[in-house]
Amino acid sequence: MTFEVQILGYGAAAPTLRHMPTSQLVNVHDKMFLVDCGEGTQVQIRKYRIKFQKIDHIFISHLHGDHFFGLIGLLSSMHLLGRTKDLTLFAPKGLQKILETQFEASETRLKFQLIYIDSKTNQRKLLFEDKTLEIYGFPMKHRIPTTGFLFIEKPRKAKIRKSFIKAYNLCIEEMVQIKNRKDVHRSNGDVISWEECTFDLEQIKSYAYCSDTAPCESVRENAKGVSLLYHEATFHSSLKDRAKSTFHTTSEDAGKIAQEAEVGKLVIGHFSSRYIDENILLNEARTYFDQTELAFEGMKLVITDKANAVRSEDMNT
Ligand SMILES: [Zn+2]
Repeated sequence: MTFEVQILGYGAAAPTLRHMPTSQLVNVHDKMFLVDCGEGTQVQIRKYRIKFQKIDHIFISHLHGDHFFGLIGLLSSMHLLGRTKDLTLFAPKGLQKILETQFEASETRLKFQLIYIDSKTNQRKLLFEDKTLEIYGFPMKHRIPTTGFLFIEKPRKAKIRKSFIKAYNLCIEEMVQIKNRKDVHRSNGDVISWEECTFDLEQIKSYAYCSDTAPCESVRENAKGVSLLYHEATFHSSLKDRAKSTFHTTSEDAGKIAQEAEVGKLVIGHFSSRYIDENILLNEARTYFDQTELAFEGMKLVITDKANAVRSEDMNT
């Protein structure tokens, strides 16, 4: 089942010719979720041949401009291209007023319904779910309220080994329990472990998005064991005071967080424009967490069925 993240932009607030501001497309089981929407995101969507109208859910982490200034352009284009189906925006409360003011001033009357869901969370909160996926918001530590997002597959039914059905003489109810990954407790005190009776389980794939934030416990908890973590690393540790005062993270801290949270792979981004060669950030993060990569535009991260395995592809070539 598809579980991919594509980086559309990964720069910090100041514009550069090297990267676009933050935006990503998360494709889970062929559902497209846009995460943050910096200026120019609609052009990036065109560039990477993503269908505008396949995006039905947009998640905005916080209301600093480099994370949402692309929304008005994208939504207006969806309207121009004839969209009629609803679109859900998970964002801090203030966004609705901003967008409505822009639509009013430009005399744009959308042909589709925008549904606003307040993403501001003081604790982990389920924002979206369908049959196979759950998306949670969780609090981070920034200058204004900021939400991280966790995409996690729902556990699939386990497959039972036929030999165990016979060996334990499992009845239908017991088989259902085991398929739902629950141990069977019999009245005679016997316990049948679901893990012992099942085989070839696909790994639960998961992705945590964390930008912008100072290092925080909530990220460590919510990103615990994820297949892939995207974490900002705006500064090198030589500027840790600047990172602290602006509520951002250094590449040293990003590496430590990935190590402590025992994630499969770390991708760092949201680099300050002062770094011409970002390898300085990569090398520092890798000191603590070997499985680290630098974000780059067009980078596609494919989470595979093996435990915490992530393959990265360059979509520019
Ligand atoms: Zn910010």
